Amino acid sequence: MTETIRNADVLIIGGGLSGTMLAVQLLRLPGQRRILVIEPRAELGRGEAYSAVELGHTLNGNAARMSVDPDNADDLTEWLTDYIGAGGWPESAEQPVPVSELFPPRGLFGVYAQQRLAEAKALSASTVEHVRGEVVDLQVSADSTLLTLDNGQQLRGARAVLATGMFPAARTPQTESSGLNAAAVDPWDVQAMTQIDAQAPVLIIGSGLTMVDAVVSLEQAGHRGPIEIFSRHGLLPHARRQPPSWEDFLAADHSLRSPLQLLREVRRQCRLALAQGIDWQAPLDTVRAHIGRLWSQASEREKRQFVRHVRPWWESHHHRSPPLSAQLVARLREEGRLRIRAASFKGLEPGGEGVTIRLRARGEQVIRQVSGAALINSSGIEYDWRRVARPLPRQLLERGLIQPGPLALGIAADASGAVLDAEGNVSQRLFAMGPPLRGMWWESTAVTDVAIQAKALAAKLTQF
Ligand SMILES: Cc1cc2nc3c(=O)[nH]c(=O)nc-3n(C[C@H](O)[C@H](O)[C@H](O)COP(=O)(O)OP(=O)(O)OC[C@H]3O[C@@H](n4cnc5c(N)ncnc54)[C@H](O)[C@@H]3O)c2cc1C
Repeated sequence: MTETIRNADVLIIGGGLSGTMLAVQLLRLPGQRRILVIEPRAELGRGEAYSAVELGHTLNGNAARMSVDPDNADDLTEWLTDYIGAGGWPESAEQPVPVSELFPPRGLFGVYAQQRLAEAKALSASTVEHVRGEVVDLQVSADSTLLTLDNGQQLRGARAVLATGMFPAARTPQTESSGLNAAAVDPWDVQAMTQIDAQAPVLIIGSGLTMVDAVVSLEQAGHRGPIEIFSRHGLLPHARRQPPSWEDFLAADHSLRSPLQLLREVRRQCRLALAQGIDWQAPLDTVRAHIGRLWSQASEREKRQFVRHVRPWWESHHHRSPPLSAQLVARLREEGRLRIRAASFKGLEPGGEGVTIRLRARGEQVIRQVSGAALINSSGIEYDWRRVARPLPRQLLERGLIQPGPLALGIAADASGAVLDAEGNVSQRLFAMGPPLRGMWWESTAVTDVAIQAKALAAKLTQF
């Protein structure tokens, strides 16, 4: 068995944007390393987000905001300019704006990430290889890490990085989650949506950006019936606009602020902006650069306060919808075809035609039933690894190699991404980046978060 083990310097578990950008950054550093990226998907650089095939499933920021190169904010704009110049994405001509202001389809963004990987590979003395499979177990010894894949293959590496991304939420009563997942239509599967009666009502659970994608998918599939959306707070993501710059008011003040103080100050700044006829998105956008620092400085109590009181507001104001998708949602709302209600999902009603769900409206005690021809689950992400039903998170917890992060959001790590084991020891062998570090930084998922972390972690990994 031992002779079949393959060896590497760095094992990257997960080949979505995080794993791929880490590989790019490692390739760009001097030296000669063997890097293996373990990813079940056929292609690196995509993950769930950038596997999108529908042109209407776009990035939620324009090209100017979505560079994967922390040293060049224009990197995506430059790539896109060349790509469009060579005849790619002809539909972009329908939008009369500069390339930097285009919102590229996410599938195209995946091509960009892949191309940056190919270029880095061509110029490097190090190597990157894609090993297809799911890592189901991981062991750490004094001098190495050992991975076991679902096909039994084993890989040994000096260090391993958890770039496993996000796990979909089953946010339902435990016993009913499999029923919900089986009954629900994939929010991104336009083909599956063509099977739904075009005039029949469709139910959607969750009202964030995945819901927005689902509405785009339904429209593309020719659905013209009512859409009923239910989420705990009934809040829709705001549309992203292009606000002017605003003074970075938090940069001048590094004193610790409680989440409620912060919220008050942000509101004050937004009112100031509005009074001057400036978009409230201008002051809010300056907060992004400070959120990791503010979150990591906050006490556990303050973090809880933020999650309880500020989170729904933060999600709908900060995680904004691409403008074309937001226009579609607004139009359907105006036409009375799309309704959003604040209600908690309480379970699935078995039997009958179509699908029936149980809901409790906000502020009410009574549980009601609502029926539709189909159901779409867009209730988001499960950040608590103790509730993720995948082998690797389970094994890591069982072996005591990781511990839950603050508020059980992802896993605990130090500032460099070195994970903390069950006893709180900082690992010299196992690291994490991206969404698994949600609890450490609050925002640890978006393109820019991932790009910055990839560069810093690559530098750290080459220090040993
Ligand atoms: C639908 C969607 C749209 C998004 N849109 C935007 C956007 O517009 N702008 C933005 O800034 N951010 C967006 N995001 C956030 C997005 O998650 C990040 O930009 C980025 O995809 C995170 O990359 P990741 O590699 O960490 O995670 P993922 O993309 O989730 O990739 C993780 C990869 O790890 C693999 N993996 C998991 N477990 C294992 C295992 N045990 N063994 C081997 N492989 C494993 C998975 O197969 C997956 O491919 C979006 C996210 C989603 C889901």
